[in-house]
Amino acid sequence: MARDEFDLIGHFFRRDTGAAPWLQLGIGDDAALLQLPPGESLAVTTDTLVAGRHFPHHADAFDIGWKALAVNLSDLAAMAARPLGVTLALTLPEADEAWLGAFSAGFFALAQQAGVPLIGGDTTRGPLSITVTALGAVAVTDALRRTGASAGDRLYVSGYPGDAGLGLALSLSTLPEPVRACLPAEARSLALARLARPTPRLALGLALRGLASAALDVSDGLLQDLGHLLAASGVGAELQVDALPLSPALQAWCASQDPLQATRWALAAGDDYELLFTAPAHRHDEIMALSASLALPLTCIGDILSSAGLRLTAAGRPWEHELPTGYLHFSGSSDDQAPTDSPPASRP
Ligand SMILES: [Mg+2]
Repeated sequence: MARDEFDLIGHFFRRDTGAAPWLQLGIGDDAALLQLPPGESLAVTTDTLVAGRHFPHHADAFDIGWKALAVNLSDLAAMAARPLGVTLALTLPEADEAWLGAFSAGFFALAQQAGVPLIGGDTTRGPLSITVTALGAVAVTDALRRTGASAGDRLYVSGYPGDAGLGLALSLSTLPEPVRACLPAEARSLALARLARPTPRLALGLALRGLASAALDVSDGLLQDLGHLLAASGVGAELQVDALPLSPALQAWCASQDPLQATRWALAAGDDYELLFTAPAHRHDEIMALSASLALPLTCIGDILSSAGLRLTAAGRPWEHELPTGYLHFSGSSDDQAPTDSPPASRP
């Protein structure tokens, strides 16, 4: 891009996100300099969002900016890391001032909320794609890994998985109009907001240090991500499907539509960015107290077993319904196209 286009872009991405005493040198030099807190390890994660793959081309630029940062901060939360800074690599078809203004507003709305500075970046011309790298700090003994679950632990999920699945169905216009019309406007907007602007559970991740035995964030669908946790820990689980918390939006859905579909979204749709974690059974009361202090639902949805495999139950009996094989991201070359049978893109 021409030099003045870079200057324009720079104008949108120099913002104060609050005090960051660990930041020795921020954006503007060849590299940023960070002072890692004594005794802590650097947690690093990166994620790319591609137009037409992870979001429709017509998606709101504010939402894209928010979500590009949110999905990375969610990975730091899942490791119980405090965010130190993020970099942003932006590939743009053109330097569209209105788009950049909205994108940066969404990006910094969350950056300021999380107190995380943008410490570097790059801009190139090409099909719209956003890569964020997030850096965090966590004492190595406190990091929440996927490997720590053991038999006798209980399984928990934060918030309400499934809202983003309903939001995706609404945004792709795959629901027949009479079905959409049955859903209260409030429920529709709640589900769409959960898809567009997920909340990285940073405070929860930090509070789970020394409490949870294993954790990850739900990006590709609860069942698929649970499978990763179980495989990493070398254990199995019983998941009580009837214990899954359903949000007000999904409850509104159940009041007029097929409740099984709501359960399917909760189990298999992705993009929720809630935390799925395990903890020893004797820590249950502490987790409930944490739920109250964070004003965030933390729901026990199952138990970790020594035998491999995942059993789904409801009312103590096997829950036997068909499910999608895994979460398929928004996929396709044109807008408003339903996800296809292409292999799912997986997020760490
Ligand atoms: Mg993750």
